[in-house]
Amino acid sequence: MERIAKPLLDWYSIHKRALPWRTDKNPYHVWVSEIMLQQTRIEAVIDYYQRFMKELPTIEKLASCSEEKLLKLWEGLGYYNRVRNLQKAAQIIMSEYQSDFPKNYLQILSLPGIGEYTASAISSICFSLKEATVDGNVLRVYMRINNCYDNIDDNKTRKKVREDLMRIMPQEAGNFNEGMMELGETICIPNGIPKCMKCPLKEFCKAYHHQTFLELPIKQEKKSKKEELYTVLLLVNQNKIAIQKREEKGLLHNMWQFPNIENHLAKKKLDDYLMKNGMKPTIIKKSISYTHIFTHKKWNMCSYLIRIDKKVELENTAWVSLQELNERYALPTAFQPFKKFLEENNEEI
Ligand code: SF4
Repeated sequence: MERIAKPLLDWYSIHKRALPWRTDKNPYHVWVSEIMLQQTRIEAVIDYYQRFMKELPTIEKLASCSEEKLLKLWEGLGYYNRVRNLQKAAQIIMSEYQSDFPKNYLQILSLPGIGEYTASAISSICFSLKEATVDGNVLRVYMRINNCYDNIDDNKTRKKVREDLMRIMPQEAGNFNEGMMELGETICIPNGIPKCMKCPLKEFCKAYHHQTFLELPIKQEKKSKKEELYTVLLLVNQNKIAIQKREEKGLLHNMWQFPNIENHLAKKKLDDYLMKNGMKPTIIKKSISYTHIFTHKKWNMCSYLIRIDKKVELENTAWVSLQELNERYALPTAFQPFKKFLEENNEEI
């Protein structure tokens, strides 16, 4: 392992991709990009990052941003607690560190929403601290180089990998970490055959020599996700659509959604529901179905487009135009296909 640092750094200095958060070593930029990159591809994050930085260019601006605006800026990235934690951490930096980003690993780690991986990324990239980042890309590269069959979902394995990488970490800690991650993303890829002929580490890679790279890394079998069924109601009256604020606690709390009911309702049951809630439909049409996958569950949703003769007051409901919905209200990704359906069928609204 000791021998990988130099060829990796040489390769990274030539092949690193130009990304907006790599133009400087500002910890605010690195921090926001790392939080956005969790579970989201680089290509998808670039636009979000640029929009976020245009609206909230400093930690001060993030700390004082309204929740509605914050959620709107994050709309589509999912995992909304991340952006709430970003703001909580920004407020702590303002009050406890006089708006100066902390430069010590443990202080960074203590901020809300910052785990070992993000603290290591900020510490190494911005402050050259020898802290190793261990994500899925790094684990894959490491396991293949060492031809190691340990389970990468086991915390003990991650700890061991981190310790080993810290042991061989060069002065250019940030470039080393980013090089490992970049190599995992572009060369030692997760799906399909790794591009070993282009890899700067093939000389040292045991999986390449034994041709075992497709067997590695070893992961825990995924548990099947719990499925929940919903019927989404696209309620329309005079060019306005009903949206509803979700509860203050739980999944997607305080975000907006289209009103919905548990289970897939057949037309007869839907008629009963509408009547019970004082709604007289003039048109009911079965609309699209969509399954949204969260980390631990999935929502299997069917929907109806329902035109009603007058607006009704459902709990926490607002009636908005499509334009208002686009401009002001944060709608989670789970409901975006239904909004797209409404946009594509605008003449029916
Ligand atoms: Fe991955 Fe191939 Fe490089 Fe080994 S040689 S680290 S398997 S890309």
